[in-house]
Order: sequence, then C-alpha cells, then structure tokens
Amino acid sequence: MDNCKLCKNRLADKTGSHLIPHFLLKRIDNEIGKSERNKELGFTIGELETTSYFGQSVLPEKLNEIYGELSDDEIAKNSIPLIVDHYFCTDCEAKLAQIESEYAKTLIKKGIESKIAPEISLLFWISILWRVSISKKQGLILKDKEEELLRRILNKYLNLKIEKIDFHSLKKDIECQNLSYRLIRCPDYSESEATYLFCHPFHKMPYSIILDEYVLFFYFKKGHVDNLIQSFFGFENGLKGTGINTVLVGENKIIYEKKTFKSCLENLVNLLTANRFKSYDWLFDEAHKKMGGQGSQMPALLKQNIVNRLISDEKQLGRKFTFKSLVIAMYEEMKKYAP
Ligand SMILES: [Zn+2]
Repeated sequence: MDNCKLCKNRLADKTGSHLIPHFLLKRIDNEIGKSERNKELGFTIGELETTSYFGQSVLPEKLNEIYGELSDDEIAKNSIPLIVDHYFCTDCEAKLAQIESEYAKTLIKKGIESKIAPEISLLFWISILWRVSISKKQGLILKDKEEELLRRILNKYLNLKIEKIDFHSLKKDIECQNLSYRLIRCPDYSESEATYLFCHPFHKMPYSIILDEYVLFFYFKKGHVDNLIQSFFGFENGLKGTGINTVLVGENKIIYEKKTFKSCLENLVNLLTANRFKSYDWLFDEAHKKMGGQGSQMPALLKQNIVNRLISDEKQLGRKFTFKSLVIAMYEEMKKYAP
C-alpha cells in the first residue's frame, strides 16, 4: 500500500474516496426519468478527443442499476473515475470531509455572498482543484510545483476539527495570499437541468472547472488575474475586473441567470459531441466509398443522420453505443439512400 497522497506520512488505507465531494457529485444530474437529458448517464461524451470530461457523473449506488454488476476487474480498472481507493489515509479523508461539510452549508446561500470564512472556502476549492489534478484522469493537471504547493497548504491547515484550523497563520501565509479564484454560480440550476463536470485540459491562467452549477477560475498568481481572458464556453464573458476571492476576502460569487448558464453549457456539450464524432469521419467516408457512393466523402447530411441515430439509441438504451451499433446505424442510414 502506498502512502497517503496528502500527508505522505501514513498508509493510504482509505477506500472509496470521493475526488469530488458527494454533496456536489449527487447534484450532477443522474436520476433516470426526470428528463431526456438525464438518460445520458455515465457517458463520456468527449472520450475520443479529450479525457477531461467524465460525462454525467453517476451516483455510486446508481452504477449497479445502469451497468449491472461491475466486476472487480472493471472496478480495478477504475470504471468509476470519481471514486478512488488508497489515495488517502483515514485521517486525511476525515479532514477533507470537514471542510466539505462546512462548505456544503453555503448551498442555501443563493446570493452573491457565500457567508463563509474565506479561509474555509479557499481551502475547499483548493482541495477540489488538487484532487482533480492528482487523479491525472480529468484532463486538468497542475504543474508539479503548483500541485505540491496546494498539497502543502492542505496538509498544513486542514484539521480533524474545523474549529481548530489555524485561521491566523493561514491568513498570514504568503503562499496562500497569492492564491485567488472567481466563482460563478447559477443557484438551483441543477434542480431542473443536467449538470456536468468538465475540467479544461489546457487553460492554466486561470485553471477552469465546470462543476455542477458552479464554474471555478483559479489563479496561482496575482499577475494572472485579468492578464489573459481565455475563452471558456462564454463563461469568460464579463469576468474581467470582477472581484476575486482570497484567503482575506469572503467568498463572493458571480450569479448567473439560468438562461445564460444554459447557453454556455450548451456550447460545452456541442463542442464535445462534435469532437467525439469527428473521429468517425474517416470511417463514414471509407464506408461511403466502399458502397460506391459519389465522391470521396459521405454527404454531411447522411453523417449527421447516423450520428443522430446513435445519440437517440444511446438515450433509449441508457448506455454508450458499441462499435457494432455504430456499424448498424451506418448501414441502416445508408440503406435509405441506396438506389
Ligand atoms: Zn494522510
């Protein structure tokens, strides 16, 4: 057994650790039958082009319903990417849980102010970013020294008792003072709409994460704030010049209207869907030529019809399509055009 990734000291004896806190994970929509979108359970939309998306995350207890019994082998291969074994020791797991349950109290604070100690909210978002990075599976990977800095801060200040966190030293810690973030929230969005977890694989200034009805922009240096505005599905609009949250300033959020939030998320889904099917382009063209179609490319409309069929099959079946179903969809759609 390896040592704990947080304290590096004790054995990582803990199994079933959540990389994303359960209170947020369960809000990433996954209930069957609530709406059409929700049937897209556990899909990895961007699987072919980007590993940064792990789809509609699914509650562990729902996994059985969807996939049936998972074999030990499948679990060992990390079929459940949000839950990990032997990352943390029991103590560190409990310490992380402390700030999670404290931060979870802000869910009901739907205004701009989160009304939580800035030390807690900063530690909370640091813990999210750090855990995403150490998993190495969500696309977003911090630079080594950044990851180590966050680990050091978490290891130094997290405590088994929330009231024992050394706020005084934390506020004075120069390394902590350099860190800042902006947070968008669309309160109650996840009650009626599908939400996602998406970590941008390339953005570093700031690191950018969509998580449920939150969007996090995390800055390691003061100089990075407003230095560069990177496009992030529209969430970057209006960001420049807005207040930042630090260890000294209580958390303020940028509140989004549902309509605006939705249109940004649609940009994300469209991009990922396009990326996913781009990889099949060559296959469509090859099939088209083999079947004696005109020209070297399958008509765009036909490609779109095949893709639409696959998406709708997925929704009906509630699981990812296989290569075989891709071939069948291709055959069925091409048949319609056959003379
Ligand atoms: Zn530990």
